[in-house]
Amino acid sequence: MKSSENVVKGRFAPSPTGRMHLGNIFTALISWLSAKSAGGRWVLRIEDLDPQRSRMEYARQIEDDLLWLGLEWDEGGIADGYLQSRRHGLYEKALARLEATGLTYSCYCTKADILATQAPHASDGRVIYPGTCRGRKAESDDAPHSVRLMVPDSEIAFTDAVFGSRSINLARECGDFVLRRADGAWAYQLAVVVDDADMGITQVVRGCDLLDSCAQQIYLCSLLGYESPRYVHLPLVCNSVGVRLGKRDASLSMDTLRRDFTPQQLIGRLAAMAGIIETERPVTPQQLAEEFAIGRIAKTERIIC
Ligand code: GLU
Repeated sequence: MKSSENVVKGRFAPSPTGRMHLGNIFTALISWLSAKSAGGRWVLRIEDLDPQRSRMEYARQIEDDLLWLGLEWDEGGIADGYLQSRRHGLYEKALARLEATGLTYSCYCTKADILATQAPHASDGRVIYPGTCRGRKAESDDAPHSVRLMVPDSEIAFTDAVFGSRSINLARECGDFVLRRADGAWAYQLAVVVDDADMGITQVVRGCDLLDSCAQQIYLCSLLGYESPRYVHLPLVCNSVGVRLGKRDASLSMDTLRRDFTPQQLIGRLAAMAGIIETERPVTPQQLAEEFAIGRIAKTERIIC
């Protein structure tokens, strides 16, 4: 018998900020298949960190859509309380451990302060924090501030199961990053690392827009003494003009898709898009699990649907 440490545990971690679209369910399907084809377990975690944009009704709708598709989770979801809004105590403890390393500091910069420091030619929208508040004396606790983590000026190397070897220097490519925002909200990077470790996740499958986040997450894992999961990043599903699908692409939202397709037809369409089957045909997730291999997923950043 396999020891529990060898069991693959995957997860799907949607943010409940709208109805899912074709891109979201593409990630859900591949994540489910990666776990199930390895005889593993699949966890559903609702990432409702952003109180302004998250809604419980969307979380319920996500569950309903996953069940309609036949993507059942073994653990998590609303009934098990796997919602980030209920896990602040864990993030608090992790932050205290990071503070104890001496690598965190209070940052009083506003967004405008930081933007004003950026090079005029920075056209990719990436904002690199220049370390303004590093080494600055902390003001009173009442002054609004975020908490940042100092990053090393060295390469963090990792291997993604789809995109291969990557290496990222956080000092050059992102700068000291936020763990808790000035409004008290927890940063995604901290919450995701704490949750994946706490839930025993061994493999993270998600869109390749988050590929560069791996370096921050691996760095956090090393400081907190967690083993990093295996990373599997997927091409982003884009509309016919090559733009990544968003919650506003109504024609590809689950609302419309559930009217136009049966669950098996939709699963077949996603599988053909991913390259798991050659010709689109109605199929169940269980049938696909028998022929699934990560190696079949197209190594491209975008899939046009
Ligand atoms: N909550 C994130 C999203 O919906 C996913 C984060 C992750 O998978 O690490 O885009």
